[in-house]
Amino acid sequence: MPTYVYRCPADCPDFVERHPMASIPDRSACPDCGDDARRVIGAPSLGAGDSAAMRLQDATRASSETPTVVSNLPGSTRRSTPISTNPLHRKLPRP
Ligand SMILES: [Zn+2]
Repeated sequence: MPTYVYRCPADCPDFVERHPMASIPDRSACPDCGDDARRVIGAPSLGAGDSAAMRLQDATRASSETPTVVSNLPGSTRRSTPISTNPLHRKLPRP
């Protein structure tokens, strides 16, 4: 069932209700004050789904701004940082 946003004229926060597409009320009672709230026409929330395609798009969008740091390539068993054999390195603090 699609969701619809309603705005109360008394400066209450907008609220969302679910209604069948066959019967969408233009007005609804505000849950905070009970006033007559009108339906707000806005952009459809197409990105609100939870599918593999949506997760991939979200991950791609997030990695374009803050790339994920990896230490190894996927499927690689080789360590990215070589293990030192110098005995003095044992005294260094570990990450
Ligand atoms: Zn209200």
